[in-house]
Amino acid sequence: MGRLVVLALLTLLGLLPGLASAQTWHEKTSTHFRVFYQQHPAFANATLQHAEFYYRQIQLDLGLTHVVQREQRPWLWEQRCQIYLYPDRLTYQQATGAPAWSGGFVKHRQRLIYSYMGADTFLEQILPHELAHILFREFVGSDNPRIPRWLDEGVAQYAEEGRRAASSGTMQHWLTQDVYIPLAQLQTLRLGHAAHGAAQVFYIQAATLVHFFITVYGPRRFLDFCSNLRDGYTLERALSFATGSSLSSLDALEDAWRAFLLSDP
Ligand SMILES: [Zn+2]
Repeated sequence: MGRLVVLALLTLLGLLPGLASAQTWHEKTSTHFRVFYQQHPAFANATLQHAEFYYRQIQLDLGLTHVVQREQRPWLWEQRCQIYLYPDRLTYQQATGAPAWSGGFVKHRQRLIYSYMGADTFLEQILPHELAHILFREFVGSDNPRIPRWLDEGVAQYAEEGRRAASSGTMQHWLTQDVYIPLAQLQTLRLGHAAHGAAQVFYIQAATLVHFFITVYGPRRFLDFCSNLRDGYTLERALSFATGSSLSSLDALEDAWRAFLLSDP
């Protein structure tokens, strides 16, 4: 056999140094989670503990503990959420195809979360963010075209530690300078094509919109709004029904959100 053929075979069999170690996964489990890792078992344990905490907290914050979910597959046994912690950023990027700036990656239908050891703010932000995406999507429907991206990203950021206060401060500052994306545009913004600055405004705005709604109308009405979207109402009707007609259009939501942030010292 030629040298290249041998190399190719070894690569296929995963026997080359580095590749072999890349396939040695250890596993730790809890009631609702399975964590796969290659090093640092203490961090894997911390991940499990945080994941169980957020799993409960996110459902409490969104009022999901009160609803009977249709077609809900329990997060148990083989259906537990799986979290893969790659040993470093490069291995993570190569395995998932995630962009260079990404610290976490989620496949919500499969309940899979990917990240890597040493990712910034993994326990405080990435983990609750990706978990919230899964829980929210399971509630409103994985392929529901009525869910705007800002709502999905707003809910995910709402779950992050420290995000609500930080994004409110930034958005207040921007609004005083008239920096924001009109809601009609926010609805259709394609993040993959947006400039970095626009993407940054998008995320902060999404976080503050969800924070505004839950603070002013309460979690129960926010849940009504999401349930209406799940059940087939358009965004404007879902909004109107959930707020007793006080917000009956995107413009009304935008005005109320701006007024809320600008009045909040
Ligand atoms: Zn997200």
